[in-house]
Amino acid sequence: MEQPDDVWNFDSGMAPDCEVEGGVAAPLEMDGVRGTLKPDAPLAKLVWFKSGGRADWLFEPADVDDLRLFLERLDGDLPVMALGLGSNVIIRDGGVPGVVVKLGKPFANVSVDDESCVVECGGGAHGILVASTARDNGVAGLEFMRGIPGTVGGFVRMNGGAYGREVSDVLIDCDVVMPSGECHTLPVADMQYSYRHSALPPGAVVVAARFQGQPGDPEIVGAKMDEIAEARENSQPVRTKTGGSTFKNPPGRKAWELVDAAGCRGLRQGGAQVSEKHTNFLINVDNATSSDIEGLGEEVRRRVYENSGVELEWEIERVGRP
Ligand SMILES: Cc1cc2nc3c(=O)[nH]c(=O)nc-3n(C[C@H](O)[C@H](O)[C@H](O)COP(=O)(O)OP(=O)(O)OC[C@H]3O[C@@H](n4cnc5c(N)ncnc54)[C@H](O)[C@@H]3O)c2cc1C
Repeated sequence: MEQPDDVWNFDSGMAPDCEVEGGVAAPLEMDGVRGTLKPDAPLAKLVWFKSGGRADWLFEPADVDDLRLFLERLDGDLPVMALGLGSNVIIRDGGVPGVVVKLGKPFANVSVDDESCVVECGGGAHGILVASTARDNGVAGLEFMRGIPGTVGGFVRMNGGAYGREVSDVLIDCDVVMPSGECHTLPVADMQYSYRHSALPPGAVVVAARFQGQPGDPEIVGAKMDEIAEARENSQPVRTKTGGSTFKNPPGRKAWELVDAAGCRGLRQGGAQVSEKHTNFLINVDNATSSDIEGLGEEVRRRVYENSGVELEWEIERVGRP
């Protein structure tokens, strides 16, 4: 397949010299690295909100060793950020400095050990594939991943969860490539999980994870997955440009109720709107910029505080230059 002009494959030698508006992209010398590096790469099409700027560099590693070599060569010179399906991020309009690492097909595998019911996944595998592969192999306990539209790497970092289960309940351990290029296997205890949060250092890339399931009847597991999918369709704007739950539920409270009580249902700023269907979701209804979306979120926080005295905390990650 022919490669677009602006994509640089490491096999060809040196990266192009590249000027990035407001950015720091400098030529990168990466002998031996086999993945694909793209300068000044648009990110909007890679994230659910379909908004935001460009990455100074976008790197898709060929495999784990390739990622390690790339990061070793980078030697901490530039910030590194992993991107999954972009279902929980606002990429700011000024773009992301440094390197965004996107795990593609080589990291999308899922396999099941029938005896131990351990499900082994690449960091780029989608939640729906994890849940359905477990089901097909008679493994229960991972059905909740059916309802979370992200990758294993995103779930592991964010402690993704739904319907009473979260990653911390099922993770055994994960393989992580640190910004230095070192690879470590971290047991679940090292992740120090709390609600939608882990202690994974910034720039660390989850390349694989192992989840513990239990023996289950594929029909029952499948029926539970269908229930989850239907409940999602009925309660969330899953077919819109959104970023999932915007704010964390404060202890003992529901963020959506606080937003609703503050009169924010349907509130608009530029092309962004508070969803009418679920008030803890912001949606891009009309070519919203990331500034519209983040600004709307801040306005909601202000109104909720004024109305109830509760300071909502962002769940969606906001990254990059304003
Ligand atoms: C319609 C909708 C419904 C949602 N419902 C839920 C829900 O029920 N429960 C829930 O928990 N979440 C939900 N979310 C939010 C989102 O799906 C989860 O947070 C998910 O874990 C994000 O995964 P991702 O791969 O898309 O990560 P991204 O959104 O791409 O990134 C999120 C964070 O994870 C990091 N990250 C991504 N990949 C890696 C990696 N390989 N290694 C290290 N860090 C990485 C990023 O750097 C970023 O900090 C929903 C989102 C949408 C749009």
